[in-house]
Amino acid sequence: MQALHMNKKQTDLIDFDKKHVWHPYTSMSDPLPSYLVESAKGVHIKLATGEKLVDGMSSWWSVLHGYNHPMLNQALIDQTQKMAHVMFGGLTHEPAINLCKKLIDITPEPLQKVFLSDSGSVSVEVAIKMSLQYWHSQNKSEKHKLLTVKNGYHGDTFAAMSVCDPVNGMHQIFESVLMKNIFAPAPESHFYQPWDDSELVELERFFKTHNNEIAAFIIEPIVQGTGGMRFYHPEYLKACRILCTKYEVLFIADEIATGLGRTGKLFGCNWAEISPDIMCLGKTLTGGYMTLAATLCTDHIAETISNGEAGCFMHGPTFMANPLACAVANASLDLLDTGEWQQQVSFIESFLKQHLLPLNNHEQVNNTRVLGGIGVVETYSPVNMATIQKRFVELGVWIRPFGKLIYIMPPFISNEDDLGMLVKAISTVLDEEQCFDE
Ligand SMILES: *Cc1c(COP(=O)(O)O)cnc(C)c1O
Repeated sequence: MQALHMNKKQTDLIDFDKKHVWHPYTSMSDPLPSYLVESAKGVHIKLATGEKLVDGMSSWWSVLHGYNHPMLNQALIDQTQKMAHVMFGGLTHEPAINLCKKLIDITPEPLQKVFLSDSGSVSVEVAIKMSLQYWHSQNKSEKHKLLTVKNGYHGDTFAAMSVCDPVNGMHQIFESVLMKNIFAPAPESHFYQPWDDSELVELERFFKTHNNEIAAFIIEPIVQGTGGMRFYHPEYLKACRILCTKYEVLFIADEIATGLGRTGKLFGCNWAEISPDIMCLGKTLTGGYMTLAATLCTDHIAETISNGEAGCFMHGPTFMANPLACAVANASLDLLDTGEWQQQVSFIESFLKQHLLPLNNHEQVNNTRVLGGIGVVETYSPVNMATIQKRFVELGVWIRPFGKLIYIMPPFISNEDDLGMLVKAISTVLDEEQCFDE
């Protein structure tokens, strides 16, 4: 379809891409089409072929204030003129210091130490390594496993993958090298349903049976994202905090997708008014501009690790605290600090509640749900990726579903017309049989 409108140069680019460039979770022998993007501004992604798409994905949760934002652009330009990068071993700089100050300020009070790294998965590796070193420093190396829940997603590197859902994460392929961790059932109590604490009996059994070997419990607060777009009850999260304390297990909150406003609170943990021992931030940290992540921990954890055998924390990425990334993160956090995001996210939430939830009545739809700036339509049949993707582009939107999940998390700045386009496009494809497999 797209090829019809492409000129020679664009066709050559796409041909090369198809032959030589890996895309995420994509076959190289039979890749689905990729669309050539020319630019992006506000909520719009402009394709090389001229189509202007309303973005419903925020480039995988990360774009908060829209693409090509003048303040974020300026922060990058200003920082480029000072320095793009210097090593962080033995050197430090204002963009990193200011960023860590801001993060300590806005996260729950017990989190006082910040480790900056390059991506979400790495921040999870760092969190896991911190928890193992914490117990090793106290001569309790037998506490070296992770407890988590099914349906989670924490990244694609090996330790992170080892706490992803074993089925979705295809653990069987990597079985011989993956850390053997412990999986409790996924949280059952839905965010909007009355709290029922009966599932805690089973969860506590896991803590009780295994606490001698568990270093930490890791979970995505309130929203299980890539592992199923499930919203669970704040009381469940509160109970996790209590169980971690009771059974001497560190609590790692993976706020990489939920952190910085997406669920309607600044952090998912705020719904339960808890503080984790370790928190991971990523995706949203630079407002979608570039890759940067942070792992925060308590004074107690940092001191225990530092007084242990190694005398230090054993990690140090080359591009740790990259000044450009820190500068743009600071600008994005300044925009969040105005508080405008709260009205923006609650506007998206009420719009989607009014217009997306009713799609529940459609015969193809199993369930619809909305929380903060996240809307989900779960279908009975899995989508046909090639067809549905093409139809969304024809309908003027960028939405990328997977399996039976058509979901959106638009940039915070989306207005009524933008959101209307997204919902209309979803409701249109639901009527089109060719967009779904049997
Ligand atoms: C995306 C994601 C990660 C991994 O982040 P990357 O930057 O892709 O490595 C980890 N945890 C959660 C909850 C995520 O959504």
